[in-house]
Amino acid sequence: MSSRFSFTSNEGVKIVNSIVTRLVPKWINGLRKLQLICIPKILNLEDVFAIDAMGGGKSALFGIPILLHLEISQNADSYPLFNVPIRLDPIGVVVTPTKGLANNIVKRLKEDLGINGFAYTSENLSLKRRAGIDIVKEITSCQYRIVCINPEHLCEREWYLISNSTLFRQNIIFACAEEGHPGPPFLSVCLTLGFSGSRFHLICCSNEHSNTKIILHTLTSAIGGTEFPQIIPYLNQQCKTVIHVQTIDLGYCIFMFLFNLTPASSNPLCRIHMYNSLASEKYNKKTIELIDTDPQCQVVIATKALSLGIHVEELRDSIAVGTADTQDNGKQDAEHAGRKEGVIAHRIIFTTTTELNKVRKIVEASGEVSVAAISKVKQTTKTKKETKNPLDPAKVVFLAETVCQVACENIIYDNPPLELSRMDCIQAERLVPCDLCCTHYHIPENHFPPSTDEMTLPPFIMPTITTKKRKPRKKVDKLKEKELEVVGMAFLVYETQLYAEERLVAPHRY
Ligand SMILES: [Zn+2]
Ligand SMILES: [Zn+2]
Repeated sequence: MSSRFSFTSNEGVKIVNSIVTRLVPKWINGLRKLQLICIPKILNLEDVFAIDAMGGGKSALFGIPILLHLEISQNADSYPLFNVPIRLDPIGVVVTPTKGLANNIVKRLKEDLGINGFAYTSENLSLKRRAGIDIVKEITSCQYRIVCINPEHLCEREWYLISNSTLFRQNIIFACAEEGHPGPPFLSVCLTLGFSGSRFHLICCSNEHSNTKIILHTLTSAIGGTEFPQIIPYLNQQCKTVIHVQTIDLGYCIFMFLFNLTPASSNPLCRIHMYNSLASEKYNKKTIELIDTDPQCQVVIATKALSLGIHVEELRDSIAVGTADTQDNGKQDAEHAGRKEGVIAHRIIFTTTTELNKVRKIVEASGEVSVAAISKVKQTTKTKKETKNPLDPAKVVFLAETVCQVACENIIYDNPPLELSRMDCIQAERLVPCDLCCTHYHIPENHFPPSTDEMTLPPFIMPTITTKKRKPRKKVDKLKEKELEVVGMAFLVYETQLYAEERLVAPHRY
């Protein structure tokens, strides 16, 4: 056995690297650091829990081990013997939290690495059924290299048959759950997965986005209103932008607002898309595709449905109109934008005065601005009752931050390296300083040159700003009790009259 190589040995890592450089020449720099750490361990059948919010590269963790097994098994003479079995028909199983993510991973693997995968979703299963194809047979005869499956299908009879097939089981080289997510719950997740002991590796990378400028604003218009003039200047920088909203209703209001301000030379239906659970899966898929391929498609207004793991190369900026329910979700939303290497991105967050007032009260009550301290504060309503929807402590800390938003998040997520990540943007020499640092150090807000010419994306019309306060309108159609009585009587009279008349005139006489 001693003559056999381990993938985690120096020689093993070298072999992995040289195969990747040769088979995937478009990755000029070869594997990224996290991939280089994780992939040999995955190949060596060790347990890996990788946390990497830096974007990209995650699907490579699934794809590269497959490529390596194929390459080594097909050219066994050129490689040494390894201490783990090398498969001719390697299979990886990825448990994905959403069908959108399952489809996305399969698409990426095909495009980036030419690997055939199957997204085991209800839609794809019924497509197969209608085409008369036995998917159980297809999967157990190892026709797919990667199977992405949503947890709800794991307990179905078909999957039971698949997972009991000897051939299928033999060829599985790894199984994993996609959605590594920092934060305290992950330790309990590790334990339930049986991840512990010396063959378990927890690999953490910082989730700081060094190319993304964080900007926090307070909405000057009502979040329940119909006008959102503050987002126009950002959209007029002509970057592809995702607008995150908490409700489909708000998404629709923003859609209408932008629709009406689209210049005549631009087609609003091409330019602005809605991505939510009311639209069909096909439509949503198309939207993602258009953002990447259609230069005239600029804005996606998305509800939570997009939140998990959909990766769109061309998205540059993210705007949250209203903060996400948790800081985690807000950060995840923003991760869809600015993933392309070398770009500078914006993450713009609009909070509300109401929310900031709540934050102020909570911080006053806690006396200390830290997630631990704020978690202990009992959040109450005006009537001093405990609130049903307390604000997420991490979000409170973020919104209360006065020095540096990047450092603030680094503390929340315990990002390495310890000292540098806690410094403000200027001390840490960050590529794009955050909003707060720019203000402190008097750095003018630099608007980046538009990414396309004005022909493709002519600027939205700036709405005229109404400065005078509108008087609250009396609700004319809300009736007082006395008025209700009168109207009720009038309707009764009308009803009898109508009945009498219809009886005489109408062709269908009663
Ligand atoms: Zn994502
Ligand atoms: Zn900063």
